[in-house]
Amino acid sequence: MEIISTSDLPSYHVLIVAGGQGSRLGGELPKQYLKIGNNIVINQSIGMFSSCITLTCVIHPEHTSLYHDAVQPRMWLRPPVQGGRERRDSVRNGLNDLKNHLKADDILLIHDAARPFVSPADICAVIREAARTGAATLAQPVCDTLRHQDGHTIDRSNVWAIQTPQAFRFSLICKAHDRADPVTSYTDDSAMVAALGHPVSFVSGSQENFKITTAEDLRFARMLVSAAMETRTGSGYDVHAFRSDAATHIRLCGVDVPHDRGIDAHSDGDVGLHALTDALLSTVAAGDIGSHFPPSDPQWKNADSALFLRKAVHLVAAQQGRLVHLDVTIVCERPKVGPYREAMQARIAEICGLPPARVSIKATTSEKLGFTGREEGIVAQALATVEFPRS
Ligand code: MG
Repeated sequence: MEIISTSDLPSYHVLIVAGGQGSRLGGELPKQYLKIGNNIVINQSIGMFSSCITLTCVIHPEHTSLYHDAVQPRMWLRPPVQGGRERRDSVRNGLNDLKNHLKADDILLIHDAARPFVSPADICAVIREAARTGAATLAQPVCDTLRHQDGHTIDRSNVWAIQTPQAFRFSLICKAHDRADPVTSYTDDSAMVAALGHPVSFVSGSQENFKITTAEDLRFARMLVSAAMETRTGSGYDVHAFRSDAATHIRLCGVDVPHDRGIDAHSDGDVGLHALTDALLSTVAAGDIGSHFPPSDPQWKNADSALFLRKAVHLVAAQQGRLVHLDVTIVCERPKVGPYREAMQARIAEICGLPPARVSIKATTSEKLGFTGREEGIVAQALATVEFPRS
């Protein structure tokens, strides 16, 4: 992972423009509210600016509930501002809303919600440049040959494709909007600042910072997100002895299975859930079930092992892990697992928040060999497959 020094980074505020209503992508949802991977476009864009002082979104008046469903609460997030008819009206509403909060010299970044892949390094670079010059934008030199339909080739040597974020001293961007010609169609804020006669620095950006506009862009965005995930596999193993005295059932994979001998255990002795808990803990390198729930602790006496598994699921979720698949193998001569397989799948799926089709339960014997063959004990092995954001 790229390490960026932010120790001398000037403090900054962010305005995210998300007022667009239409979608050229053909769906019902505007593009800023579409899913990419586990995230929503606008929520991911907001997340790129986690080092800002405040962040304000300008949204379409009809998108208030979409916005609140899509965006997770963050300490630095201000309430959204209603957008206007054109992009420049939306930005202006945002600037007006910020006038009582920002000082003239503060740095404000203006960013399109539909660019969710801006890198931390590029954000830092554009802030530093704006702190020096008053106005800077991310931009990319154009590499493709540009040719007009009339046949003449356009000299691309000084041609840049303009991106966002664009960073400005607050007083400068407010002045640019105040003085902007009402009939001129400015495609972005840096054009308004340039129209004032104030130079705008170009900071070389990255191709990944593309704007999601077409269905092809959306496909590409989803490819990028899946490429940015890594898969981890954790394994778990557990053994419990059968007691010698008579019993009515054992707990196995969260289900009571009739059996004539009980399990020797401090908790409910569910080898399936214990192995699975260890497999999940393993994907976040969080120790083992014994370190979280010591058998010496009286509060876990006869405990439902679903509690242990829930805890492991929470630890995985805290690292933004997405459970992909769980697999349990039970080794014993008796009881027979087959009749309870579906109930076990359903119970584990319920505990972990997964579809049952992503939970596999298998059983085998050890051909009368060893302690499982002699019916002295029962074994479970588990594998957990979990996706995490690449770090
Ligand atoms: Mg155990």
